[in-house]
Amino acid sequence: MRNFTIMDNKILLLGESARFDRVSSFSKRGEKGMGKWVYPALLPDGKRVNIMKVLMDNRCENNCLYCMNRKDSPLPRTYFRPEELSRIFLELYRKRIVQGIFLSSATGPDPLITLKNMIKTCQILREKYRFTGYLHLKILPFAPFSYIEEAISLADRVSINLESPNGHCLSAIAPDKNWSNLWGIIKAMKEISGRKPSSRVGITTQFIVGPGGEKDKDLVYLAYNLYRHYKLKRVYYSAFTPLPSTPLGKYPSTSPLREYRLYQVDALIRYYGFSSEEIPFEEGNLNLSTDPKLLWALRHPELFPVEVNKASFATLIRIPGIGPAGAQKIIKRRIKEKIRNEEDLKGLRIQSKRALPFLLLDGRVLRKKTYSKNLLPFLRD
Ligand code: SF4
Repeated sequence: MRNFTIMDNKILLLGESARFDRVSSFSKRGEKGMGKWVYPALLPDGKRVNIMKVLMDNRCENNCLYCMNRKDSPLPRTYFRPEELSRIFLELYRKRIVQGIFLSSATGPDPLITLKNMIKTCQILREKYRFTGYLHLKILPFAPFSYIEEAISLADRVSINLESPNGHCLSAIAPDKNWSNLWGIIKAMKEISGRKPSSRVGITTQFIVGPGGEKDKDLVYLAYNLYRHYKLKRVYYSAFTPLPSTPLGKYPSTSPLREYRLYQVDALIRYYGFSSEEIPFEEGNLNLSTDPKLLWALRHPELFPVEVNKASFATLIRIPGIGPAGAQKIIKRRIKEKIRNEEDLKGLRIQSKRALPFLLLDGRVLRKKTYSKNLLPFLRD
């Protein structure tokens, strides 16, 4: 039986510290014992795996107002050496407790040394232990170009958290961080990954939603730009949750519904061909009570209803209740025979209640649109 060691304490502490490095309100970690630092993750190939999420170092030179690991926090501090962390991870990997690693870190006493140690950990895993599984490496601010190059050559995912959509909002929550510097890292990542089209690396970032005072529109416009021009794989949103004993500990938490709406818009941009200009906002924010695709459709009565037996894929996926999979099923079915009625649509698992008001079937309107009261002010905009 293995004794409970200093190393176990380290992993508990640095795994616990990584808990505050959130991806979204909806990502849930294990709840008991060592499982606390194990998180489920969806890999680029669609596989679900458990990943070990851990910090290299929880010592920090910064004082971000929302963060438990901030310099002034009375937290016990520790760090891993690359050899230690790679060995621990490999042990867990071999026992099939985890299948991948998300390695993040606070700055440590010197962010460049900390980042160098993170890269070294990845090198040991890839080169010494021949680990070929999922590896996500978070880049620290002020990383030189050559460090980013090394990170990209080793990892499946690299990320830099922009936290806010501009410098003004960032300084309200993380006064020691410099937005131009973070943006410079995004630009360097794009340049490096663009040089090797065969590179499997995906670039991601995260925003903390709420306390910076940003509008949803700022976030969505920037996310669109990141997807379109900076080849980002994912933009994550994290609804702010106040942590006790931080300066923002009494700041109200952000509704998870706001995060959810931002993810709905994220899907519209990534899978439905929407541009940021098409997203409906009310005074710069998303409507919390109704989904953004439905609001967009209601705002464009000139485009609907469309003939379900003739509409293109691009048109079908703009209809509320029809996603890319549903649109494909409709088109496949039409090759064999026409869609004749609501039952046919239900058989294709289309959300017919939502879709019918926007469809024609051989010139017939299938169901009239009715608007709930909470949509009326929005429609009069
Ligand atoms: S840099 Fe900011 S967010 Fe990161 S660990 Fe330090 S205080 Fe926390």
